[in-house]
Amino acid sequence: MRISELERIKTHLRIARRAGKPATLSLAEWKQTLADFNGMCAYCLLRPYDLLEHFIPADEAGTHVNNCIPACYGCNKKKRDRTGDKLIEVFDHATIERIKTYLTSRSQQPDEPKTERAKQKIQVKRVYYVCTKAEYERMKSMGRTAVLW
Ligand SMILES: [Zn+2]
Repeated sequence: MRISELERIKTHLRIARRAGKPATLSLAEWKQTLADFNGMCAYCLLRPYDLLEHFIPADEAGTHVNNCIPACYGCNKKKRDRTGDKLIEVFDHATIERIKTYLTSRSQQPDEPKTERAKQKIQVKRVYYVCTKAEYERMKSMGRTAVLW
């Protein structure tokens, strides 16, 4: 079964949180990252991505927009938990520099709290009825909360 991108990031956010590291990657940010790589692996740019990959391991650097990239199984296996110069031994220098430049260029972009806002609007509608005197009487007789205009 294919997991949703939201489930995917939630799993990684939990791991980072447990390790006491920054856990801020939003769905909007991750979708932007995927779009920036055209749905391909950030390392080889040849195969579609399979995984959310932490450039620096999650328990060291956390799960946030400046540390997460899409990777294919092959590149993920090749990378293991290498960082810094050891990465250049398995991928070439240009690839690592390209990814570093990309990650540092990203800025945080939190998700809109859409559901919360929608809820607030509904509550406001339910509570206030601004009306004329005749409507006010009718509302009152129906047991509704009304504000006289
Ligand atoms: Zn790859």
